[in-house]
Amino acid sequence: SCGICVAKCPFDAIEIINLPQELDQTPIHRYGENSFALYGLPVPQEGSVTGILGPNGIGKTTAVRILADEITPNLGEYDAAPDWETVIDEYRGTELQTYLEKLQTGSVTVARKPQYVDKIPNQFDGNTRELLTGTDERGVVDDLIERLSIGPVVDQPIDTLSGGELQRVALAATLARDADFYFLDEITPYLDIGQRVTAARLIRELAAEGDRSMLVVEHDLAVLDLLADTIHVAYGEPGAFGVITPPKSTRQGINEYLSGYLESENMRIRPEAIEFEQHAPRTASTGDILVEYPDLVKSYGENEFSLTVESGVIREKEVLGAVGPNGIGKSTFAKLLTGAIEPTEGSVDTQLDIAYKPQYIEIDEPMRVDAFLSSITDQFGSSYWETEIAQPLQLERIMEQTLTDLSGGERQRVAIAACLSEDADLYLLDEPSAHLDVEQRVLATRAIRRYTESHDATALVIDHDTYMIDLLADRLLVFEGSPATSGHASPPVDMRNGMNQFLSDLEITFRRDQRTTRPRINKPDSQLDREQKAAGEYYYAP
Ligand code: ADP
Ligand code: ADP
Repeated sequence: SCGICVAKCPFDAIEIINLPQELDQTPIHRYGENSFALYGLPVPQEGSVTGILGPNGIGKTTAVRILADEITPNLGEYDAAPDWETVIDEYRGTELQTYLEKLQTGSVTVARKPQYVDKIPNQFDGNTRELLTGTDERGVVDDLIERLSIGPVVDQPIDTLSGGELQRVALAATLARDADFYFLDEITPYLDIGQRVTAARLIRELAAEGDRSMLVVEHDLAVLDLLADTIHVAYGEPGAFGVITPPKSTRQGINEYLSGYLESENMRIRPEAIEFEQHAPRTASTGDILVEYPDLVKSYGENEFSLTVESGVIREKEVLGAVGPNGIGKSTFAKLLTGAIEPTEGSVDTQLDIAYKPQYIEIDEPMRVDAFLSSITDQFGSSYWETEIAQPLQLERIMEQTLTDLSGGERQRVAIAACLSEDADLYLLDEPSAHLDVEQRVLATRAIRRYTESHDATALVIDHDTYMIDLLADRLLVFEGSPATSGHASPPVDMRNGMNQFLSDLEITFRRDQRTTRPRINKPDSQLDREQKAAGEYYYAP
């Protein structure tokens, strides 16, 4: 290894990851001897939204705990913590000085939304309205309930809410507080794109309203781009040290992140750039037919949700993306294909061998990760399996852990690995991006793409992360309708038609970053937004 990494370099690119200059300097905080050290802090700005972009375990929470006055920074002197004067002296003349001075006098109030909303039901016993009323310091809860479509579950006990409902309730509860500093640790998990955009708008509105500072960690880059005024990139070695860069413009920060090279820091964080196709890819759907399904209907009972599917084909060697709002029948369609549920009308050929990664991963066996994965494939441990699956999904570090002890992101990576390790005709992945940090999404996307290419495999990937879908899919299966009531799936189409169909339903257009051609969400009613809607081009440049 290059000497700074505690684990194996996931990119096998040891020579290019140079030692950051920051490491010669004083950290803002170190937990103890040989413990995690943090270099640099994000700077909360009054009236604006500051984003942090980086992997998990890099010190984002540590930084926020410092800014929220829960940890007094020790400048690396963990056995003889310096006083506030010394800390402020260290940052005198920087943008942080004013903020740290306020912290010292105890005059900063903080509201925060936790990362894992799934844990809220363990901490709160009551219904949605009770939870929201409890935090409504600004008297805005009714408005937030409406904007975030929480109405249907407002009288429901918190422990009966779905992940997407909990996420919106947690956001409303945080934004209803009257604070100087708001910290939102991931807003998009379990939300569909429409809900993601609404959440981003609410956060921006609250920042603009006054002298409040918003700090957001977000792994969906299209949403981070829409949300943040400036961003700090966080890099380093998860678990060992983290460096938080000075603020960059959001556009510049995301561009540098995608290019793999931080310019002002002169730091390469990834060997290759991530690139998007500006023009719709030429359709690759000329392969032989793998699955042909007829018109299908699935109703869960009278007056309950009903899905209609128009007949279509899935072709060999393609990655078919599936997009649409929550509660529209995407998982139902996946289960129809696997044969887990029977259609109400029509029938599906269940001869097909399908490897299925469900949306909610239930693992209750107290088995070790390595034992579990070697029970799935006899390729386990081969050099091929190591390079194609274990390395990109960063499994080495967790091989000896027990499945039931894994975090959400670790569980997701094991589940993707298990799915790809099977010998199947069709790989069906339902929301592989959930719980993955930004770097893991990049690696997982590449792993799935490479695997399908090198195996002539066929995959169906359901996801809400536009960048992931863009990088993965050859064609799209678009779901429309009214969530929780009725859904409709059209036959799969090419990327351009699919994106247009999907985004016109949401009234969201994307422009292209001039330098990198990465897609960026247009401001509603901006000139480009109006022009593109008029031309019917929601995603790809004409
Ligand atoms: P992130 O929010 O980016 O996921 P954290 O700030 O939570 O990262 O953690 C960064 C590192 O610091 C992790 O390796 C974590 O184990 C370590 N860490 C967090 N809190 C403590 C603590 N109180 N004592 C020692 N190490 C800690
Ligand atoms: P998506 O994957 O697009 O979010 P789903 O296919 O999971 O949507 O669900 C579509 C709708 O069907 C939702 O309203 C959901 O509550 C409902 N639903 C799913 N499974 C069942 C079931 N077994 N019984 C009754 N309703 C169900």
